Amino acid sequence: MKKIITLLSLLIVFLGCKNETKNSSEETQTNIKKNKFAIIIHGGAGTILKKNMSDEKEAAYKSKLEDAIKIGYTILKNGGTSQEAVMKTIQVMEESPLFNAGKGAVFTHEEKNELDASFMDGKTLNAGAVAGVTNVKSPIELAIKIMTDSDHVMLSGSGASEFAKEKGLEIVDPSYFYTEKRFKSLQRIKDKEKTALDHDDKKAVFYDADIKNSKFGTVGCVALDKNGNIAAGTSTGGMTNKRWGRIGDAPIIGSGTYANNKTCGVSSTGWGEYFIRSQVAYDISAQMEYQQKTLKEATKDVIQNKLTKLGGTGGVVALDKNGNMSFEFNTAGMYRASMDDKGNLILKIYKE
Ligand code: ASP
Repeated sequence: MKKIITLLSLLIVFLGCKNETKNSSEETQTNIKKNKFAIIIHGGAGTILKKNMSDEKEAAYKSKLEDAIKIGYTILKNGGTSQEAVMKTIQVMEESPLFNAGKGAVFTHEEKNELDASFMDGKTLNAGAVAGVTNVKSPIELAIKIMTDSDHVMLSGSGASEFAKEKGLEIVDPSYFYTEKRFKSLQRIKDKEKTALDHDDKKAVFYDADIKNSKFGTVGCVALDKNGNIAAGTSTGGMTNKRWGRIGDAPIIGSGTYANNKTCGVSSTGWGEYFIRSQVAYDISAQMEYQQKTLKEATKDVIQNKLTKLGGTGGVVALDKNGNMSFEFNTAGMYRASMDDKGNLILKIYKE
């Protein structure tokens, strides 16, 4: 009997230890420092299909994404801040006519380019955002200036331009943002809209398939620097044919952009109205903070479950405090890239 009791006690102790080992190894899994620094970007999500893409176009997108991410990577590698890496990386894409941000932004119904951007610093939880500017060359730079040099988080329209001028940011003629491709895509949508209205089709045409597909190219970046600081930023022209001063998710902190050193940084792209209603970027951080989810679990739940159920389309790029990175989208494709601290580059467009 004594022997049996001793054996049973040993078994209990053994099982207890095994369980402990399992728990602690799970803990280390999520707390492991994957990368000392890292960077992840997107250039928009949508129905991006290989069959609709020429080899030249694909190569052009890939090469611009690579140029952009390498700028940020080099800043981080040399000990620069995540704020600088995010700004400089986004600026490369803002200056490229390929993306719907800065030059190459989509047109509003009134045939203008109205730009939105936001930035968040994960260390201080400070943030800056701008909506509807028409003459500031780099909306992401303006968002950061609003964060660093004003008492406010969000400025819009002419007031935001005035602030930019006062702070010495580059002002351009609105025609700087013009590209024929985007202008033509507005005309196509307006024609469709007219036909629908002529047929007394009261169904909203603002967001039909063609329209949804014509707005790819919002840009975003999230970076973790060697000091453990996360920064995130997003810049866009919004959606083609937008009117009445429509503002999407990109300049909304918590929807288009979020960063918190305790959890992660996120930049979103997609159908803005749904991203606002879902508070996509903040929800990912909150699930990590309050439910101890990993970055992958949180991004997956928010995009593939919650956003999808609501009918929203799009995706996010996100990175956590340990340098784990995640691309998550429910569309056919998302222009995207990431680089880890060893310089490994991932560059993709379509779903795998
Ligand atoms: N989210 C942007 C907006 O709704 C558009 C996009 O990301 O494609 O303004």
